[in-house]
Amino acid sequence: MTFDSNEPLLGIGLTAKKLGVSPELLRLYEREGLIIAHKTQSGHRLYSERDLEWIQCFRKQIVENKMNIAGVRMLLALMPCWKIKSKCSKTDCKNCGAYKNSSVVCWTLTDQGSKICREASCRDCEVYKNACQVDKLNHMYVVIEDDKKN
Ligand code: SF4
Repeated sequence: MTFDSNEPLLGIGLTAKKLGVSPELLRLYEREGLIIAHKTQSGHRLYSERDLEWIQCFRKQIVENKMNIAGVRMLLALMPCWKIKSKCSKTDCKNCGAYKNSSVVCWTLTDQGSKICREASCRDCEVYKNACQVDKLNHMYVVIEDDKKN
């Protein structure tokens, strides 16, 4: 049997304990758009190993690099989701808040430009799953802005 690091298995209490934070803080990160917890039918939050990795990743920015939540969100907003997914047409991009506004995290939008996004589970999307690459984004941002100008 293979282990799926995306499978949501851990409840909020255990996740918080493993990470050395409070459950309230995990809920705050969710409200602030940094994480998407899996919700069971009864509304309980579950987290996967990958979620834990992602939370540790942005907490490093917060704890070690003194970045605040807004700063992490700003970096996430720079992720060129339309490029990572590579399925967005020019029309999708034109209608998409994430493409037009580089200060919005795509998975917090309610009116994504492409039908694929509107119908997708962001938790399972490459963009969300690759959020840990966020520290490379300053460089990517320059490339994207240049692309848009051309
Ligand atoms: S599916 Fe969700 S996370 Fe993926 S690009 Fe679309 S809005 Fe962003």
